[in-house]
Amino acid sequence: MREFNINTRKLEIGNIGNKLFDVIIVGGGITGAGTANALSTTGLKVLLLEKGDFASGTSSASSKLIHGGLRYLQQGRIFLTKDLIREREYLLRNTSIVKKIGFRILIDGYSPSGLSIKFGLFLYSMLSGKPRIPRFTVNNGELVPEVKGYYSFYDAMTDDSTLVIHNIASATMRGVVCLNYCRVTGIQEDDAVRVEFLDVTTNRKAYVSGKLIINCAGPWADNVQLLAGKASNGAKLSGGTHIVVDKSLYEGEDAIAFFSHLDGRQMFIIPREKVNIIGTTDILTTSPDNNVPTGEEIEYLIKSAQRLIPQLKQSSVLASFYGTRPLLGHGKDPGKVTRNFRILENGKMLSVYGVKLTDFRKASRKVAQRISKKLGAPALAKEIPTIDYTRPENLTVEYILNFECPLTVEDIIRRRIPVEIYDPLGKEKLVHECEEFVKEGKLVKSIMTV
Ligand SMILES: Cc1cc2nc3c(=O)[nH]c(=O)nc-3n(C[C@H](O)[C@H](O)[C@H](O)COP(=O)(O)OP(=O)(O)OC[C@H]3O[C@@H](n4cnc5c(N)ncnc54)[C@H](O)[C@@H]3O)c2cc1C
Repeated sequence: MREFNINTRKLEIGNIGNKLFDVIIVGGGITGAGTANALSTTGLKVLLLEKGDFASGTSSASSKLIHGGLRYLQQGRIFLTKDLIREREYLLRNTSIVKKIGFRILIDGYSPSGLSIKFGLFLYSMLSGKPRIPRFTVNNGELVPEVKGYYSFYDAMTDDSTLVIHNIASATMRGVVCLNYCRVTGIQEDDAVRVEFLDVTTNRKAYVSGKLIINCAGPWADNVQLLAGKASNGAKLSGGTHIVVDKSLYEGEDAIAFFSHLDGRQMFIIPREKVNIIGTTDILTTSPDNNVPTGEEIEYLIKSAQRLIPQLKQSSVLASFYGTRPLLGHGKDPGKVTRNFRILENGKMLSVYGVKLTDFRKASRKVAQRISKKLGAPALAKEIPTIDYTRPENLTVEYILNFECPLTVEDIIRRRIPVEIYDPLGKEKLVHECEEFVKEGKLVKSIMTV
């Protein structure tokens, strides 16, 4: 397999001076990674630039669900739900990094009526082509007494950064140049698009040109528009926090969907490897660079979930994370603004907003089709993009160093083998192993990014 590591990165940057690419992608979250992967089959020359590590933005701070969007169905967004279900089923069938997870949606004094949930779940199963009358299970004492019982359904889960890395590595295998820690600092549009970027590891600037540029900068997409001298598309930003708590607080296998008694918001308790993840909030924010949850948000999550897990306390929180969504649409309540992705074209730049982990294939295929057509490349084959990169069963840090291009210890423990999230109490062993690689010069402790 083609190597993709700290040395190949250095070589690529060394050779890049003033090269002309067909397409330059800004941003290495799921939108950029999926698009790079889709374009990698077209024969076009593609470069992806990411200012931090791959998946260091929202794409490592999501609920990590590949979901049909039951919540969107409750809002009447049937076509969106149908699309998401189709994508979920494709990913379940065709990748090993997306797995089914059972859900229990609780019926109590804070949920919509049991009948409306039953109807919603029936519709949800119908849209997936497997209609099924949902069964109600009475609370026989396993849940707090105020819960009458629950309806069961399934969705899917993944690790978001792993999904990104698999797309990046698949694209790299087919010749896309993907560079992490390279921040785009200037964009000038002429006959071609001239891009200035900073290699954050050396603080050196470099220049490269592309026939077209794709802005996949997620919540930073409007900033990239401005860098190119274009008007902002006016995306609102909505931040969401999750907390990570010990597994012993809830040892069930199914995730729990419930409604907060504080404001009626739908929330989840999601059992993962050695922890449970509880989320999320949905609050308008002003800067995409805010990436730390506020004490208030953490308190809201604790109080909401305490109703079901009375022993949950502030000290039960082992970790927390925060991600930001860009929303293009009107309305003060971020929960009600449209969640469909949008592709906006302006000159030689395509800006892509609002792609979810779940629909990244549909969105990136659409973007890649449009680019291929503009550049006269062949149309995409039917199932593109496909994830062809696979990891060995006995995954080692050495392997990751060779084929997934991490540069720092954090890249490994947060986005390649994310023990920081799924096993925060047991992370020391991996941290220690990484520190040995730091001594050998194969990793660095950290890199300052802006
Ligand atoms: C709280 C929360 C929970 C969510 N849960 C789910 C879920 O369970 N399932 C689901 O399907 N979706 C979920 N989503 C949605 C999904 O996570 C996001 O929509 C998706 O990750 C966005 O990916 P992206 O690539 O567009 O943005 P990002 O992942 O933010 O990637 C953009 C990248 O661009 C880079 N960048 C920015 N500026 C520059 C520059 N100048 N130069 C180079 N690089 C730059 C950034 O560093 C960043 O890595 C959730 C979203 C939130 C906020």
